[in-house]
Amino acid sequence: MDLIFAEATPPGRGGVSVIRISGTGALSLAQRLAGPLPCARLAYLRNLRDGEELLDQALVIWFEAGASFTGEEVAELHLHGAPVIARRVASALVVGGARPAEPGEFTRRAFLNGRMDLAEIEGLGDLLQAETESQRQQAVRIAGGEVGRRAEAWRGVLITAGALVEASVDFADEEVPDDIPEEVFGLLRDLRDELMAEIRGYQAAERVRTGFEVAVIGPPNAGKSSLINRIARREVALVSDIAGTTRDIIELGIDLRGLAVTFLDTAGLRESSDQVERLGVARARDRAVSADLRIHVSDSGYTDRDLWREGDILAHSKSDVSQNTTGLRISSVTGEGITQLLDLIYEILSSKVAGAGIISHARQVQALREASVALSCVDELPPELVAEAIRVASVSLDRLIGRIGAEDYLDVIFTTFCIGK
Ligand code: GDP
Repeated sequence: MDLIFAEATPPGRGGVSVIRISGTGALSLAQRLAGPLPCARLAYLRNLRDGEELLDQALVIWFEAGASFTGEEVAELHLHGAPVIARRVASALVVGGARPAEPGEFTRRAFLNGRMDLAEIEGLGDLLQAETESQRQQAVRIAGGEVGRRAEAWRGVLITAGALVEASVDFADEEVPDDIPEEVFGLLRDLRDELMAEIRGYQAAERVRTGFEVAVIGPPNAGKSSLINRIARREVALVSDIAGTTRDIIELGIDLRGLAVTFLDTAGLRESSDQVERLGVARARDRAVSADLRIHVSDSGYTDRDLWREGDILAHSKSDVSQNTTGLRISSVTGEGITQLLDLIYEILSSKVAGAGIISHARQVQALREASVALSCVDELPPELVAEAIRVASVSLDRLIGRIGAEDYLDVIFTTFCIGK
């Protein structure tokens, strides 16, 4: 592979700026600027020179092929953190035969050299995008290879089951096994149960990754927008304030005690004779129904029963001027009940997080579903198809970690990576 380089630290002024070089010849290129660097993984303080010209004083480290992030020979130049220095060193590297890396190219090489599997790369992408504590905790586990380790254990079970099926053919001295040991079915049933448990944990893990949605609904003038403004202003860290993609819903993304939560303000939910607007209202209602939780805001006790789901919260608004006692009393004017409301939302959502598994991407759950479908009802299959079911399940697990079929996903995944990663 050709020699690539990029700044591994964000562009701009800072204490240190790290340029990473990867590929065969990374060491000799670093030595061309820094002079002899006899040992790998030792930090050398060196004057970097381009011919006679002094570029910077830097710490220089190199890693052998097979013992680096990309799996290739890698050198790192830890420069003083001014953009002009990084630019000058970059031009010296280009003259020395390296080219600027594409976004995610270091990680792509790590994958191609078997240093990371596809799920780890997805976890790393999530980690780089993480904004809240729960997102960080989940992503760091996955980036650390937890999916791959689990997949290896599952593949081990399939290999054992496959070997037992094979053995039953040999002993019977026939082409086709007619007496598959019960142990095989026990192994496959337990494995399928495990896969199903992971599949069940997908939705919560996906929500931790992308954020939970909480819809604030209720009749016009109930105080929905005031509530959301109150939440945004006082109680929580504001992450983003996205004007809705439709005119019917405004989204407010917040970090609620470590959970990424998007509040949906459905103030535009009202009956209308205008056809376009009616479509918008229908979409907003669908969105409210599919949200993870709904807060029904009302100052009159009225709630829309069609939108009510078990576990929803009833918030009685304008408690400063209203005596109604049903539901949780809140006031966006005095702040009464707002902390309790957020506590309740947090409690409900964190109980969902408790069921989160390690599978958090649609691609991953698809592979697991294929494996579990292949293993369903194996004990009712004709014996010759049991080995085939095991093979199909095994292929699906290979797909889970990108041992096969990764090409289709790599380009998509790396669009979220920055240059230098
Ligand atoms: P929405 O249509 O449900 O979004 O309702 P708004 O948030 O726009 O509020 C409608 C009206 O009720 C506005 O005049 C608000 O100032 C008022 N309002 C909202 N919340 C409270 C509250 O807690 N106490 C009082 N006194 N008035 C409120």
